Amino acid sequence: MNSPLPITETTTTEAVSVRVRGLVQGVGFRPSVWRLARACALGGEVLNDGDGVLIRAWGPAESIQGFLDRLPREAPPLSRIDGIEVTALGEAGEGDDFVIVESAGGAVRTGVVPDAATCPACLAEVMDPEDRRHGYPFANCTHCGPRLSIVRAIPYDRANTSMDVFPLCADCAAEYGDPADRRFHAQPNACAVCGPRLWLEEANGRVVDIPQGRDAIAVAQDLIAAGKIVAVKGIGGFHLACDAASEPAVARLRQRKRRYHKPFALLARDLDMVRRYARVSETEATLLQSAAAPIVVLDRRDDAAPLASELAPGQNGLGFMLPYTPLHHLLARSLAGPIVLTSGNRSDEPQTSDNADARKRLAGIADVWLLHDREIVNRLDDSVARVAGGAPRLLRRARGYAPAPMPLPPGFEAAPAVLAMGGELKNSFCLLKDGQAILSPHIGDLEDSLTHADYRRSLALFRALFEFQPDLVAIDGHPDYHATQWGRKLAEEEAVPVSVVQHHHAHLAACLAESGAPLDSPPVLGVILDGLGFGADGGLWGGEFLLGGYAGFERLAHFAPVALPGGAQAMREPWRNAYAHLHRFLGWEEVDGRWRDLPIVRYLAEKPRGTLDRMIERGVNAPPASSAGRLFDAAAAALGLCRETTSFEGQAAIELEALAETVADERGAYGHAVMEGEPLVLDWAPLWRALLDDLLEAVPTARIAARFHNGVVETIVATVTSLTAAHGVENTVLSGGVFQNRILLEGVTGGLEAHGLRVLSPREVPANDGGLSLGQACVAAARWLREGRAR
Ligand SMILES: [Zn+2]
Ligand SMILES: [Zn+2]
Repeated sequence: MNSPLPITETTTTEAVSVRVRGLVQGVGFRPSVWRLARACALGGEVLNDGDGVLIRAWGPAESIQGFLDRLPREAPPLSRIDGIEVTALGEAGEGDDFVIVESAGGAVRTGVVPDAATCPACLAEVMDPEDRRHGYPFANCTHCGPRLSIVRAIPYDRANTSMDVFPLCADCAAEYGDPADRRFHAQPNACAVCGPRLWLEEANGRVVDIPQGRDAIAVAQDLIAAGKIVAVKGIGGFHLACDAASEPAVARLRQRKRRYHKPFALLARDLDMVRRYARVSETEATLLQSAAAPIVVLDRRDDAAPLASELAPGQNGLGFMLPYTPLHHLLARSLAGPIVLTSGNRSDEPQTSDNADARKRLAGIADVWLLHDREIVNRLDDSVARVAGGAPRLLRRARGYAPAPMPLPPGFEAAPAVLAMGGELKNSFCLLKDGQAILSPHIGDLEDSLTHADYRRSLALFRALFEFQPDLVAIDGHPDYHATQWGRKLAEEEAVPVSVVQHHHAHLAACLAESGAPLDSPPVLGVILDGLGFGADGGLWGGEFLLGGYAGFERLAHFAPVALPGGAQAMREPWRNAYAHLHRFLGWEEVDGRWRDLPIVRYLAEKPRGTLDRMIERGVNAPPASSAGRLFDAAAAALGLCRETTSFEGQAAIELEALAETVADERGAYGHAVMEGEPLVLDWAPLWRALLDDLLEAVPTARIAARFHNGVVETIVATVTSLTAAHGVENTVLSGGVFQNRILLEGVTGGLEAHGLRVLSPREVPANDGGLSLGQACVAAARWLREGRAR
């Protein structure tokens, strides 16, 4: 204000061109630029094109500078700016006005972004008795609401979404057309006059009469409070809801859903309510309140308010989420405690997403259905995250995250278009194109025929949405994976080559890619621990120390292979792994002589050992596998956890981790031995001897579980430090589903960092097979680029 010089003398007119790259389409970026440019009194224009958003602006130099300073700070909440480039323009354009130029089509990207949790402004309207959207469960704006879940085709316009059957009323149309409004070009914009509506239905199809002065949500609340199970149609699918504090309601839900052990997720009204049950760090609070609004697995408080005992059997964690649509806000608003909100399906089938299907498939499970008439085009499960090693890690990547593209590291700019098919369990697929990777949401286990159908449908839709034509198809090496077979078929139809990517190499590459490691990075040492994957030698792998990068790897060491007696049965029956481990490392004679009185030994003695021994010795239906997951299963069974059967993958290991977590002060660790050779083989005989001796001396099982974890941590740290020293490697990768174990991840990370090594571990993409497709895509692209092939 007190400028020493008259303004007129310092003012020169400037004109600039501003290129903004990143997630800037379909998130209200152009109107935010328009508002900012007008506030700065600039002339010019803003438009979407194939590279993002392009701005041309002119005005006084100070105003231009102010505009450029504020642009990144005032970007809309759902945008992600990856880069801003400013170049001077020779001369200013015509006029003082600033305008939004309509997209020219053609190369413009689709702008299909992830579904986002209700923004504070929309929530305030829904809760405001004076507002025209008061109590309206489908309010949304440019900063929030459904996106991927409603889109059928591109371009992302209302006509190409399931909102096409709801013509905008005059008020909504005015908002939609006004660049100054928060709902400018908000495709799902709606209100009670013109938008989707909600009703409550009984099992016989009769619509429940709603008493005067109440609404369907309030009646559903009463039913939940009274112990009923309510099927709720949400944004990406159906949930089953019941009172989380009601022992009979939760037991009934488990019984009817035939889901006996897998934990149920909980919906709480707000953060304060979550804090009554679980400890919430700042990182966890941010994650819960983010626009993606995932389920966050939290540590239960010792003095937690009461909840039904069967919510998460055998686990310390509780999975909480906060409301992410007005419907969920309204539903949770006046309930005294959290509600169970678990996927609407029977055991392992995909979540139901359409009304007719929900009436049929949830019959006999739900007591009543809270339905709406907006079609869910793309099923989206809730994402699941957990904080480990101080950082949020996605365990399941779906609603709120997909299909946001992930920028690939330097070196992948000229990569071909790769379609990567993913794995068999926790499947996702990946489209690699233009230096970016688009990962599908979590699809599920392709062994289930409904899930497999959903996989093929999603694949076709993503190819259409992103106008994707593959130059090659990347698949896992396992010949029996449905994804592998489907990939071969697609490649044949498209007449493009297939690139086979070893399972654990894909895990390694996925972590490198999300960590931003450039294509030409020096080799890293990857420790990849999981259940099973098809090995480069045709065997089954799962406890691997790989030296390499995107284009290739060398297997430097691995866990000693142990038979899986009964094949697939060994995945579900941990005692089989206990027997195979003891047989392999100690021999039954020693076990029966020295530890005969242990419950696990007496239990195994009752099993048909003769048959098992013959299977193992002849290798009939007992393939050897260097699996880390099965080592954890075997140890759990020895301690009496899930000894007979597990009902979901990883259950035994999760319970073993939960047990070990109860004794944080335990420093004891079981040892290992190394069999020299190439590759090195890690032998667990010392671990098993010490574990059985502890059992014999009646050491508390929690201490044994902790010493087991510490032993595995020390083994990995010792192996990695010797290998990295021998090969002159500084960077390491920890991935594979077994690294979702927090004790293991934090222990190994701490140990390696203490030796001066850099540790990369997955965050944005699951460490489990959900992240496999990203790695497959990057490996296939890297090989293609190395071979110098043209597109
Ligand atoms: Zn909003
Ligand atoms: Zn309206």
